[in-house]
Amino acid sequence: MGSEETKVNLLDFDRATMAAWFEGRGEKPFRAQQLVKWIHQQGVDDFDAMTNLSKALREELKQVAEVRGLSIAADQKSSDGSRKWLFELVDGNRIESVYIPEAERATLCISSQVGCALNCSFCSTARQGYNRNLSTAEIIGQLWMANRLLKEDGSRPVSNVVFMGMGEPLLNFDNVVRATHLMQDDFAYALSKRRVTLSTAGVVPGLERLAGVTDIALALSLHAPDDDLRNELVPLNRKYPIREVLQACRKYVGDGRRRVTVEYVMLDGVNDSDQQARALAKLLRKVPSKMNLIPFNPFPETRYRRSNAQRIERFRDILHQSGIVTITRKTRGDDIDAACGQLAGDFKDRTRRRERLVEVIGGAS
Ligand code: SAH
Repeated sequence: MGSEETKVNLLDFDRATMAAWFEGRGEKPFRAQQLVKWIHQQGVDDFDAMTNLSKALREELKQVAEVRGLSIAADQKSSDGSRKWLFELVDGNRIESVYIPEAERATLCISSQVGCALNCSFCSTARQGYNRNLSTAEIIGQLWMANRLLKEDGSRPVSNVVFMGMGEPLLNFDNVVRATHLMQDDFAYALSKRRVTLSTAGVVPGLERLAGVTDIALALSLHAPDDDLRNELVPLNRKYPIREVLQACRKYVGDGRRRVTVEYVMLDGVNDSDQQARALAKLLRKVPSKMNLIPFNPFPETRYRRSNAQRIERFRDILHQSGIVTITRKTRGDDIDAACGQLAGDFKDRTRRRERLVEVIGGAS
């Protein structure tokens, strides 16, 4: 036992699965609480520094386990204070995470997959193809790494996490949910349910399962008020049309005060007319929601253009007048290609998108 390759990466466990692991080794399950605190609250990866564990346990852990973060392939800082990391995984694939400091919070935008299979026509990640799901360790590792690096710099730690980087989080359900358990765990990052947001293109079965296992905030990438246009922009819509997706979202947020954040990328002449704004307002009448308009962020070879500022304002006003709280997302980090939809990563096998897309949406594409 204990060769480099077979060591367990403790970043793969949330507290419950770590307790089970300890129990399986004949240890007290409460060790998990101590370890989770050291690893996630303190950012410690060296067992020798974990002074409330016995020497014997520390030695044993060194033999069988490790805390293995991600390697940094690039670390870029934007003039507006945001920061983008390109992380390299053990298999050579690379993913991106973005840190966005604001007055009241500091948000980390993380990835859930290497690439993405959904092939949304306006997204740069889509053009890169799909390779694989991230492990829990690789998902939580982005937050773990970010907080360690921010601390070194004297920057504020992450206060909010959004699954708005590369990938579709609901297609990597178990690993994503386990990572959110750590984000919310008082012994780990202790982020409240409003401070962790999962953004989805609308995977209905995933939405239905989600309600049973977590209460984190939900964002839906809608982008169109009708199925014809949405089929074109978000091909997943051919499998899960707007009506079903909105119904699943409504069920997830329940009857309380929670609302779905509806994301809508503003594409010049495509989805930004007055009439489309009115159709959208009508569509959302029965869904507790708030709108987040995202000015399109261009990337090489895209056929789309960003709607101009007056158009976005007009669109927002129409929604406002219909009683829908609407904000326009500020573009951050565009000098380092860190804005929404610009995360490209860098990975090896880009050929799996097609087969994966067929797997996800059937032969419809
Ligand atoms: N797959 C998930 C999460 C990743 S995308 C989802 O679809 O929600 C995060 C957000 O960025 C989504 O709303 C996505 O539609 C948006 N986005 C993608 N490409 C964009 C671009 N070029 N400009 C602006 N927003 C974009």
